[in-house]
Amino acid sequence: MKRVLLIKYGELSTKKGNLNFFIKTLYHNICHKLEKYPVKISRDRARTYIEFEEKDLNDIKGIIDHIFGIHSYHIANVVETKDEVIQSELLKMVSEEKFSSFKIDVRRSDKSFPIHSQDYNRVLGGLLLKNIPNIHVDVHNPELLITVEVREENSYIYYHTYHGCGGYPVGTQPRGLLMLSGGIDSPVAGYLALKRGIVLEAVYFEAMPHTSIEARNKVIHLCEKLAAYTDMIHLHVVNFTPIQESIYKNCREDYCITIMRRMMYRISERLAKRHKAYAIINGESVGQVASQTLTSMSVINQVTNMPVIRPVACFDKLEIIDIARKIDTFDISIIPFEDCCTVFVPKHPVINPSLDTCIEEESKFDYESMIEEAVKSKNTLKITDHMDLDEFRDLL
Ligand code: ATP
Ligand code: MG
Repeated sequence: MKRVLLIKYGELSTKKGNLNFFIKTLYHNICHKLEKYPVKISRDRARTYIEFEEKDLNDIKGIIDHIFGIHSYHIANVVETKDEVIQSELLKMVSEEKFSSFKIDVRRSDKSFPIHSQDYNRVLGGLLLKNIPNIHVDVHNPELLITVEVREENSYIYYHTYHGCGGYPVGTQPRGLLMLSGGIDSPVAGYLALKRGIVLEAVYFEAMPHTSIEARNKVIHLCEKLAAYTDMIHLHVVNFTPIQESIYKNCREDYCITIMRRMMYRISERLAKRHKAYAIINGESVGQVASQTLTSMSVINQVTNMPVIRPVACFDKLEIIDIARKIDTFDISIIPFEDCCTVFVPKHPVINPSLDTCIEEESKFDYESMIEEAVKSKNTLKITDHMDLDEFRDLL
C-alpha cells in the first residue's frame, strides 16, 4: 500500500494574497532538504504531499521536523477514490491498531463522489463497528480520530498527527545578520528569527589569543545546529582583538562593555549592509546584564539605524533554556570557554550609561580605521548541518 507524508500548513493558511509565495517557498525548501532521497513531492493550496520509500521514512521525518512552515503532518495511506477500495483499505489499516473508541471524519473535496460526508461517516463507522470487536464511537474524545480525505483521483486515510515546527518558511523574508556568541541566548534568537522566515547570516567576534580555538569551534557547532533549520549559513568570524585591547587601554573601565557593544553593532551594521541583510538579530534580553538595561540598550543602539531584532528580549532565562534544549544547542552553549565579552569584565560596569560619555571615551582612539580593518579581514565560513570541523583546519 502506498503511503505519503501529508503536510498541513497551519499559520501559512492565514496568508491570503501571498499564500502561493509561501507555499512555493516551502515546497522549494522541502525539495532542497530531501534532494538526496528518491521522493516525489507535489503541492496544492491546502497540502504538500511527499511520496517516499519506506526505508527512508525515519530520516525524512527527522528532516521535516526542522522545516519551518509545516504546522503538522500525517503519514497517510493513499487509495483510489472508489467506495469499495476506501472501505477495504480502511478496515485493513485500522484492524492493526489498538483502540477502544474512534471517530470518522470524512472530508469530501471531490464533490462528484456520490456519498455525502455525513452519510459516508456513518457508512465507514458502521463498517468498523461491524468488523472490529469491542470498539465504540466517541465523537467528543475519540482515541483514534480517523480522517478520510476524499479527493478526485486518490483519497487519503490517516490518524496519527505529527507536529511540525510551525512558523514561516525560511526565505519568505530576506536576510538578517545574527550576532552569534557561544552563549545560550543567541542561538535561540537565531532559531526564532529563522522561524519567522528570515534567511540567516551570522557574525562572531573573537579576541584571540584571549579567546580560544575551542570557543570558535563552539560557535561553529552552534551554527551547525541552526543550519539544520535552513540552508547553509555564512558565519563571519571577525578579529575583535585590536578593538577590544584599545578600548581597555584607552577608555574608562566602567564604560568598556558599553563601548565594546557599540563597536560590535557598528561592525555588524557594515557587514549587514555589505551582505544585503536588512536587520541585525541578537540574543539580548532586557535586564539580563548591565549592558542590557533599557538605558544601556538605547545608548548602544544609537550607533545604527538598522532594525535590531531581539527575539528573546522579553523571555526569562528559563524560557530561553527550554528552547535551547529543544533545539539541541544548550549542551554546547554551556561548555565553558571564554568569550570576548567575558575576558575583560569590569568590576562595576555602568548600568545607566550616558551617550555623551560614550562619545567622549570613544574619541580617545581611532576606532574608524580599526572597524574598517576588522570588516576587511573577516573570515567567512560556510556552515551546513552535515560538516566536519576538519574542513576548517587551515583556518584554525
Ligand atoms: P548569549 O546571550 O548568547 O547567552 P552571552 O550571554 O555571552 O551569550 P551577552 O553578553 O548576553 O552574550 O550578549 C548579548 C548578545 O550580544 C548575545 O546574545 C549575542 O547576540 C551578542 N554577542 C555577544 N558576544 C558576542 C560575540 N562574541 N560575537 C557575536 N555576538 C556576540
Ligand atoms: Mg546573554
